[in-house]
Amino acid sequence: MGMLKLYEYHFSIMIHILENIDKWKCEYKKCGAQCCSEGIQLTIEDIKRIKDLGYSPDDFLELDETANVFKIKGKEGKCFFTGKKLECTIRDNEPLVCRLLPFRIVEVSYSDEPLLRLKPVVDCPGIGQGKKIDKKKIESDASKFLHENQKLIRDIKTKGKKGVLADI
Ligand code: SF4
Repeated sequence: MGMLKLYEYHFSIMIHILENIDKWKCEYKKCGAQCCSEGIQLTIEDIKRIKDLGYSPDDFLELDETANVFKIKGKEGKCFFTGKKLECTIRDNEPLVCRLLPFRIVEVSYSDEPLLRLKPVVDCPGIGQGKKIDKKKIESDASKFLHENQKLIRDIKTKGKKGVLADI
């Protein structure tokens, strides 16, 4: 798929999709929702959107102190929002990371030119099925993720976790 240089938010961002996939359909029942694991990373916009659905951040949110990023809490080894039939209970409001599927982030760097590399999920039974992948949308969501996360890391350093959460 190649490397894409986007000029958004007044600085350049590199999004690199490492392997081509033409079509994809989420077959979560066949793979046991393998992507819906504990610790899905959240941006502030993700947190606001989920909070607006009526969820309390205390219930679903945790801070990874080492990486300085917010994540979704786990529930019985899965993402907090995985339902009894393995469905996503916040579908259409899911985090940016979930919108990148069937790609996973394999590398992220916030140096002079922020960079994010994506690779297809290993052993995904939905690859090659369903609709054509909208590459532009994946790249746009990836660049939003990179930008929002870069800002979050800065804000946590200056305001602390409590200060960041108070602004939501
Ligand atoms: S938010 Fe939804 S799609 Fe994303 S990991 Fe959780 S259950 Fe899966």
